[in-house]
Amino acid sequence: MKENKIQCTLCGLAVEINAFSVNTTEGLKLFCCAGCLSVYRLLNGDKVID
Ligand SMILES: [Zn+2]
Repeated sequence: MKENKIQCTLCGLAVEINAFSVNTTEGLKLFCCAGCLSVYRLLNGDKVID
């Protein structure tokens, strides 16, 4: 059995909780922390759906 670990979209670290997520035109993205989430939003503002 392979473990299906979720990785942070920005840095690739394992995501333990789903608290940091954002809807984008490419689907729901998950992050390990608020910092990664905010950096992603800065870099991909055109994809983020608010
Ligand atoms: Zn991260």
